[in-house]
Amino acid sequence: MTETRPEGGSPADRTRAGGRPADDVLAELLALRAADPPTHGGRVLSYVYDPGRPDLDALAERAATAFLPVNGLDPTTFTSVAAIERALVARARATFHGSDDVVGSVTSGGTESCLLAVKAARETWRAASSSRATAQERATIVLATTAHPAFHKAAAYLDLDVVAVPVDPASGRADPGRMVAALDEAGDRAALVVVSAPSYPFGVVDPVAEVAAGAAERGVACHVDACIGGWVLPWWGDLEPWDLAVPGVTSLSADLHKYGYAPKGASVVLHRGRDRHAAQYFVTTAWPGYPVVNPTVLGSRAAGAMAAAWAIGEALGDDGYAELVGRTRSAVAVVRRALDATAGLRVVGSPTGPLLALAADEAADGTTDGAAGAVDPFRLVDALRARGWLAQCQPAMTQPDGTVLPRTAHLTLTAVTADVADQLAADLVAAADAVRGVAPADPDPGLVARVLTEGLPDELAGVMATLEALPADVVRPALVQVLQAAIDPGPARA
Ligand SMILES: *Cc1c(COP(=O)(O)O)cnc(C)c1O
Repeated sequence: MTETRPEGGSPADRTRAGGRPADDVLAELLALRAADPPTHGGRVLSYVYDPGRPDLDALAERAATAFLPVNGLDPTTFTSVAAIERALVARARATFHGSDDVVGSVTSGGTESCLLAVKAARETWRAASSSRATAQERATIVLATTAHPAFHKAAAYLDLDVVAVPVDPASGRADPGRMVAALDEAGDRAALVVVSAPSYPFGVVDPVAEVAAGAAERGVACHVDACIGGWVLPWWGDLEPWDLAVPGVTSLSADLHKYGYAPKGASVVLHRGRDRHAAQYFVTTAWPGYPVVNPTVLGSRAAGAMAAAWAIGEALGDDGYAELVGRTRSAVAVVRRALDATAGLRVVGSPTGPLLALAADEAADGTTDGAAGAVDPFRLVDALRARGWLAQCQPAMTQPDGTVLPRTAHLTLTAVTADVADQLAADLVAAADAVRGVAPADPDPGLVARVLTEGLPDELAGVMATLEALPADVVRPALVQVLQAAIDPGPARA
């Protein structure tokens, strides 16, 4: 969830005819930043990715600063951008075992990478089906319920249908048989199937090879969403093949601004085949201006994060990534050991990588004895917050087949977590002890109105329980209102 509006006015609340001294302006920005949660040190267990390497941050800052003024819109003018993008695509291709026919683009983030994979698949589907499909026929994306919402967003923007296939609630993993059956059901309309490596909610790697094989047999594109895992899994250890080494995988996304430790605004999307990559482009000459050739969604394009991403990769090298992933793994091991010894909580499924989802242990459910009861994940998140850690609440979800994915607390661990893993483990145990056997918060439909006037309360368990319980057609507009209110300047002042 987003934080409430800061106390006092925001800069937009004031309009000035005259300018202000730069020091004054900067001081105000820094004061605003001081109210943010700490982006470094491992206390924030989502959103931010800290390698625990101030030298890398310093390098990224200098690289990004050097590229702030250029425009990535035209790599034939700013050839520096073309050179860097080419190098990043080459590094990604090598890392994800792409052959020479794998090419791609650097984008502004995972959402854009996924959107472009969907666009490429839709154009490819249209080209292949033009002879048989009518103009108004819509393409379909088949994905698991755990797939990232970027694909729902892409479908909404690009006008595709989504078929969400239930995952196995025990493992949290996509079910390859059901995914392939859904492709058969979609028939000619199937344009793309998506698998995650790993999924964000549960950190579980989907059965890439089986789904990709089924897709290839049916002539359907298959995207591996490695947005979060892309720059971790290659060094994690023994894994089943999950990347472009797998036949049938036609595209892959991997965010540089997550475990590539770049500042926000950098991701890579790769395609098998230059035609597929070309299908991602937008091109027009239908105006009296310059010829427009946009590989990505944006027109004018920032290159700072791209330059920083390249610089970090060069500084790290393969060994540097391996070292950071090794530290991340050790942090995960410390936290898992503590969780395994903590009653009332369980890790969902069998995650591979640095993400963990914690659910209440059903075996302990129904017991109100404080020593033996279950630990409600939302209560746990509040208790962690009181101890200085920000974990994420993930509401329960009923899948299309009626099975329920449990409410969970999400933890994203990074290399810096290794420095604080013992403290995190101890605080997880203490937080679980503090809320074990405490009943989950009751939903409270009046909360939405109160959040709109008073902002979010310190304890989120009630808010999240309410979001979980209310029907989607009530929750969705309410969520928009809350977020809209956070940036609404209010009535204009005279
Ligand atoms: C983060 C993420 C995305 C979307 O990336 P953004 O950079 O937040 O736009 C897509 N898929 C997965 C699995 C992710 O974790």
